[in-house]
Amino acid sequence: MLNILKTHFGFDQFRPLQEEIIGCVMAQKDAFVLMPTGAGKSLCFQLPALKMPGVTLVISPLIALMKDQVDALKADGIPAEFINSTLTRAEIDRIQTQALRGEIKILYAAPERLTIPEFQLFLQKIVVSLIAIDESHCISEWGHDFRPDYRNLKMLRNMFPAVPVMALTATATQKVREDIISQLSLEKAKIFTSSFNRPNLSYAVLPKKNSYDHLINIFREHRDEAAIIYCFSRKDTEHLAADLRQEGFKALPYHAGLESDERRTNQEKFIRDEAQIIVATIAFGMGIDKPDVRLVIHYHLPKSIEGYYQETGRAGRDGLPSRCILFYSAADAIKQQYFIRQIEDEGERKNAYRKLDQMVEYSELATCRRSHLLAYFGENYNQERCDGCDICFSPQEDFDATIVSQKIMSAIIRTGQRFGINYIIDVLVGAKNKKILERDHHELSVYGIVDDFSKEDLRRIVSQLVLKNLIVKNGDEYPILELSPRGQDFLKQREEIRLPKPKSVAKLSQPSDAVETEYARDLFEQLRRLRKELADEQGIPPFVVFGDLALRQMAVYLPQSEENFSRISGVGQEKLKRYGKIFTEVIQTYAQENNLSEKDVPVKRSARPRRSNRLGSTYRETKELVLQKMSIEEMASMRGLAAGTIAAHIEKLLSTGEKIDIDYLRPPVEQFETIKAAFKKSGGTALFPVREMLGEPFSYEELRIARLFIKS
Ligand code: ADP
Ligand code: MG
Repeated sequence: MLNILKTHFGFDQFRPLQEEIIGCVMAQKDAFVLMPTGAGKSLCFQLPALKMPGVTLVISPLIALMKDQVDALKADGIPAEFINSTLTRAEIDRIQTQALRGEIKILYAAPERLTIPEFQLFLQKIVVSLIAIDESHCISEWGHDFRPDYRNLKMLRNMFPAVPVMALTATATQKVREDIISQLSLEKAKIFTSSFNRPNLSYAVLPKKNSYDHLINIFREHRDEAAIIYCFSRKDTEHLAADLRQEGFKALPYHAGLESDERRTNQEKFIRDEAQIIVATIAFGMGIDKPDVRLVIHYHLPKSIEGYYQETGRAGRDGLPSRCILFYSAADAIKQQYFIRQIEDEGERKNAYRKLDQMVEYSELATCRRSHLLAYFGENYNQERCDGCDICFSPQEDFDATIVSQKIMSAIIRTGQRFGINYIIDVLVGAKNKKILERDHHELSVYGIVDDFSKEDLRRIVSQLVLKNLIVKNGDEYPILELSPRGQDFLKQREEIRLPKPKSVAKLSQPSDAVETEYARDLFEQLRRLRKELADEQGIPPFVVFGDLALRQMAVYLPQSEENFSRISGVGQEKLKRYGKIFTEVIQTYAQENNLSEKDVPVKRSARPRRSNRLGSTYRETKELVLQKMSIEEMASMRGLAAGTIAAHIEKLLSTGEKIDIDYLRPPVEQFETIKAAFKKSGGTALFPVREMLGEPFSYEELRIARLFIKS
């Protein structure tokens, strides 16, 4: 199987669970596969399809997606086709004839095909060895993407009682899972669930202040990298896309109100790397499998955590580090509430308020966002810090919040536990709010007793107290704050409490680039252009030729021999034959011009070698500060660490090849010469003898830093 994996797909190793799932269907058993986007679900039916005798029938909801997947398989030299309404009669006939002759291994079809008698007849004449139902959540009305046509799939079971069925989805909610199982009679299926954590995605929430400037800066940093921006309304998408074009970015809008032609062209341009940015309403995304989306930005507050997770899930399918950024303001939540108020059905309305509230809670979080997201889907993420969200990236100090918590809770009690968060905060800061004056609440002892926290800060503190279950929120639209029994105890017992310090501007988390960080960017660009040309010639998306990871590896190892090139991830037999020569030629020219030599491409033993060989977050925090050109003393006091520790961090960062510029830390010439001479005299690089030699005026960390310049 590893052999097939390399020769046909170009990969060295299975990803988690792939091998087990393949084994299960090869043993003729049903399988239900729940894995997040980008986990590599397709391979779980594509590989067995090659080993099994007849045809593997794949049901997939989206026509555009079908074509991309079939193109990708063909590029790997695998006989695959699709049948849907975009084909002519003659094309369908041709494909069916081929299938009857046993020349097709993987056949994609849209669900509505199954109701066509002529297609049913055709199915009965071919040998179907495996049925794969991709995006199987489409069968459930509880899901976010219900497709009535998926209900037709039940009949497949009756038609092929002995053929194993595999259902696949990235939907994390329990209700939908149960629905899929019962609708497809998968009670006997073996269930495969992997963690829904997406370690290569980083999550950050930014306050929606100067958000446009922020956005521009982000794109300047991510030139040419594919990005999706989600907006609230159709108008927003068009305006924002136009503004971004003014700034020189290739940005296009996408929403359900566009002419279908324009919609298709815009999507196509994005997939073909002709537009960098798509500014979309949530209508965008289901139909694309673009693996190299590096940024998903929510310019407005999403309606629910499910939706948010789904949309951010479209980033980084290829496993390379990608960022998910949400711009948050309380005003956005109010705007959403306005729309929820229009929902007529009471149950639905309540539900919508609840979902929105959970989204607000996420946005105001002061603890790890990844862990919160996973907990939402019932998963326990038991690492203290994730190293991939804004909170963990710049951990917040906590502070003694006893007094301010007591003040907040007293204000809730004094006003009779009848008001929402805005009112309570207004009372606390002593706002001259008409309603407060009317109710004589300005006479209360709690009126205006908070002057050391901003309203924004107070909101966050209240959120923390809700999360800690000291305060409860009741009601939908304007939830009222009340004290929980726990909260009442807290006040009575005069307990103490520490909370994360509110800070208004969260730092952007930088996804750590674990995979091949240092690559020749100019070569990468050349290879990208080559990839684009080849793709255009064949009318396929660039990522079908090679993924970003493959190009990055080429730009790191500069493989020029066929043997070495074939070890690149994603290079199988067929691609080696088709593209090996042309790519190695470009690489060779580049290597010669720059006087660089080829390196062996390592064969990866574990599928995703992350974390282990990566520097921990403490180093990266120091790195951030170095990038801001802080002095050793400043860094030390900022981080609450000894100067020597900071110096050691810098040493470590440099020794692992991090690109940081420390020239500004270079000691003054005279001092440096003295230290250099002392090292020379000591005959080694150890600090101790030098310090002994030079004595008091030089500290260890000064020596340590100076030593970095001596080495280089
Ligand atoms: P999903 O359907 O679970 O969202 P895909 O099947 O689209 O994920 O796969 C995501 C990406 O992972 C694709 O680019 C695919 O080529 C790649 N991939 C799948 N399996 C492996 C593997 N074993 N090694 C390396 N890359 C893989
Ligand atoms: Mg998929």
